[in-house]
Amino acid sequence: PSAAERVHDLIELIPDFPSPGILFRDLTPVFADGPALMALAEALVAPFEGRFDYIGGLEARGFLLAGAASAVCGKGVLTVRKAGKLPRNTIGESYALEYGEARLEVHAGQLPAGSRVLIVDDLLATGGTAGAAARLVERAGWHVTGMAFALELNDLPGRQVLSDYEVFSLLNA
Ligand code: 5GP
Repeated sequence: PSAAERVHDLIELIPDFPSPGILFRDLTPVFADGPALMALAEALVAPFEGRFDYIGGLEARGFLLAGAASAVCGKGVLTVRKAGKLPRNTIGESYALEYGEARLEVHAGQLPAGSRVLIVDDLLATGGTAGAAARLVERAGWHVTGMAFALELNDLPGRQVLSDYEVFSLLNA
């Protein structure tokens, strides 16, 4: 089977999680399947090969994919973390959630100026998370090569919100 078929067949659909009316896509079975995880990691980096220096993993599922992608392509990982986790001088970017606000942070000066970063996460919904990560990378003085997701939800405006960026998703739902 192709990487897309493999990953698709392992994703579990969970109704009403984390709140009523939400259909949650659970990728933990993909993470637990070695060959599927490697196939996914290869698929995420392939469209951007030769065009990035670091993989920006978004906490927390994006860390896992970034780590697997690192093993595939040999590039290091930039951990884009939720607020308050990084111990040194940080740059942060806040973004709106359905209820409230969230904030992502990176260490200022973590990467050399002008570094090319491929942003990786498991799922693209509204694009709020990845958009904030991209603004953060740019404000830190680095360049966003593009963004790669395992799964993109088509009925949400993620792709339009991220229209300034090259967006790849292995699967659409
Ligand atoms: P967005 O910011 O695009 O609205 O939401 C994407 C972020 O929320 C990602 O970090 C993703 O991990 C998480 N997320 C939202 N919905 C789901 C879902 O159904 N399944 C999974 N695995 N993650 C989700």
